Amino acid sequence: MSLQDKVAVVTGAASGIGKEIARQFFADGARIAIADLNGEAARATAAEFDPDGLRAMGVQMDVTDEAQVDAGIDAVAEKFGGIDVLVSNAGIQIVAPIETFAFADWKKLLSIHLDGAFLTTRACLRHMYAQGRGGSVIYMGSVHSKEASKLKAPYVTAKHGLVGLAKVVAKEGAAHGVRSNVICPGFVRTPLVEKQIPEQAKELGISEDDVIHNVMLKDTVDGEFTTVDDVARTAVFLAGFPTNALTGQSVVVSHGWFMQ
Ligand code: NAD
Repeated sequence: MSLQDKVAVVTGAASGIGKEIARQFFADGARIAIADLNGEAARATAAEFDPDGLRAMGVQMDVTDEAQVDAGIDAVAEKFGGIDVLVSNAGIQIVAPIETFAFADWKKLLSIHLDGAFLTTRACLRHMYAQGRGGSVIYMGSVHSKEASKLKAPYVTAKHGLVGLAKVVAKEGAAHGVRSNVICPGFVRTPLVEKQIPEQAKELGISEDDVIHNVMLKDTVDGEFTTVDDVARTAVFLAGFPTNALTGQSVVVSHGWFMQ
């Protein structure tokens, strides 16, 4: 189903997975808001897709800031005439063993992934419910929504938490035609993962090559990274799915790393 004329907000869309999702939504006919902490990069991404600025806009937004989220989502709804799709994708990674994990880092990571998901969902649902034309909320989970890895305590905790939030949104949103699902990618070579390779090599005392082949890709069926294209195609499918039949679910896109 086409996203023609749908209005979509993608958070963390100035880079990596979110940027490719925004690109594919735009190519499918949607009007898109590139929401990112890095406002300059958000505006540059919007201009890259749509130099005329008619169907793409950049929005500076820290997803952990209630006032910025509410103002940013209202600005998108005002410019494009409502909100049909939210992809709550902004995220970071911090790796360390639990016994030395800084409390400030734990709180920072949980806040971006969970507070960010809650605040953007709340702001978008208000518009979706008022409009009365349904909607789709997509959370960027991870194989770490299903499975654990060493060194990633807050990340695994947050990604599991998003599955719970998606199920509540599916139940509450159903009466308004709003669906909610989670995409759970395996490792994708974005800046978030490139940063982890040397960090994990250091923490685990192994080579970077070992991190890639014997940690990140060890349990895939083919030793391959998942790509931004793989994840974006899944987002297009979920965003355009027309009924409540597909809601409250999580879709794992990971070269068979995790099979449910
Ligand atoms: P990335 O680093 O390429 O992009 C993340 C974007 O989020 C950046 O543009 C950054 O500016 C933005 N961001 C960070 N903090 C923010 C905040 N407080 N408010 C608004 N924007 C903020 O990372 P990515 O790999 O594309 O990751 C995107 C999502 O996909 C994350 O939720 C991540 O956990 C998830 N994910 C990534 C992988 C992977 O292997 N790369 C796998 C599974 C899930």
